[in-house]
Amino acid sequence: MAAGLVGSEILKIAADIRTRQREGQSICNLTVGDFAPAQFPIPDALKDGVVTALDNGETNYPPASGVQELREAVARFYARELKLDYSPGAILIAGGARPLIYGTYRAVVDPGDKVVYPVPSWNNNHYCQMVGARAVEVECGPESLFLPTRDALVPELKGARLLCINSPLNPTGTAITAASLRSICEAIVEENEGRKRTGERPLYLMYDQIYWMLCVDGVEHVTPVGLVPEMAQYTIFIDGISKAFAATGLRVGWSAGPADVIERMSALLGHVGAWAPRAEQVATVGVLDDPPAIRSYLDRFRPAINTRLRALHQGFETIRASSPALAEIVESLPPMGAIYLTCRIAPFGKRTPGGTVLRTNEDVRAYLLEAARFAVVPFQAFGVRGDTGWFRLSVGAVSEAEIADAMPRVGAALAALE
Ligand code: PMP
Repeated sequence: MAAGLVGSEILKIAADIRTRQREGQSICNLTVGDFAPAQFPIPDALKDGVVTALDNGETNYPPASGVQELREAVARFYARELKLDYSPGAILIAGGARPLIYGTYRAVVDPGDKVVYPVPSWNNNHYCQMVGARAVEVECGPESLFLPTRDALVPELKGARLLCINSPLNPTGTAITAASLRSICEAIVEENEGRKRTGERPLYLMYDQIYWMLCVDGVEHVTPVGLVPEMAQYTIFIDGISKAFAATGLRVGWSAGPADVIERMSALLGHVGAWAPRAEQVATVGVLDDPPAIRSYLDRFRPAINTRLRALHQGFETIRASSPALAEIVESLPPMGAIYLTCRIAPFGKRTPGGTVLRTNEDVRAYLLEAARFAVVPFQAFGVRGDTGWFRLSVGAVSEAEIADAMPRVGAALAALE
């Protein structure tokens, strides 16, 4: 297992960018799924809460399942904001979302068990590798906004132990609709009704909604349990403060799910020691229990993200409008949520001014970095195999001015191809 671990593709690209930055190049860096604190600071209530908690001596081990007040605050938060009814005992706190994803896999998947997830997706391949699962990847394309559909998933559900869905989706920034998620959930319930008769273990759904507070206006975030209440016994939610409050470095995440699964995840993660730091947990209570503070933070944060996403999308529309030839090889999907925009840049077979023929996504990535100082991540980093020309653009670490400066460079670099 250890020998088979593969490092992050995105971090490899980031190293290339850092080298160029050290050489003095200014790059529009759309690669990292993180926030530049100068652009996107955490809420004051969170920062002040951490300082106060440390002053108050909140410096020792937290309980393995999380500080009780935070489990209660998450339960209140979900009841208030998502109309989800969870008792604090059905909520687990950990050091960000990652340990909870790992805990979900470890708790419900045995080696050799089948795990189904759509691609593109974020890191499910790595978690499957760690637990020795049999990964079944269901490739989803632009016709479904890269989101899974019932028709695509149903043929794979037989015998599966875990299905993983993420919305809004990393890497595409697209969000699943109520109709689509409802029909997927109905298929899961139907599958599990059959299993009750045969005694087979259930199919669980890991629903990663870490970006749910970052939907664009007019896009409604939906949940499996909200749409199909029977899903409560099969759904493990993944969530936390990392993205909604630009707090990736504070490390507070939570899961809500069936109490028996949550209890086993807690037992497991307790041994790993994957707790969220105690002071950060206490500070998060103060934020989750303060709806006006959340609202005033998101009222500034979401438009700032959306403005950047729209500027990128508009930039691609302008490039498309500039020539019919470019309109054929460039497109982007309208943003729906998260901090990502999806674009297709597919100048395959064309020659750069330097004489290189672009054949793969990697060739295009390298050319955009070289010629336009525009850094993007190919969908290969999210499990897509073919050179389809699709890329992820992440806006958490760039300013509006950097995007405004960069888009004409991208247009010029593409227009220079022959
Ligand atoms: N889920 C998704 C879909 C993500 O994009 C990320 C972060 N890139 C995580 C989970 C992990 O979040 P955390 O930093 O809280 O571990």
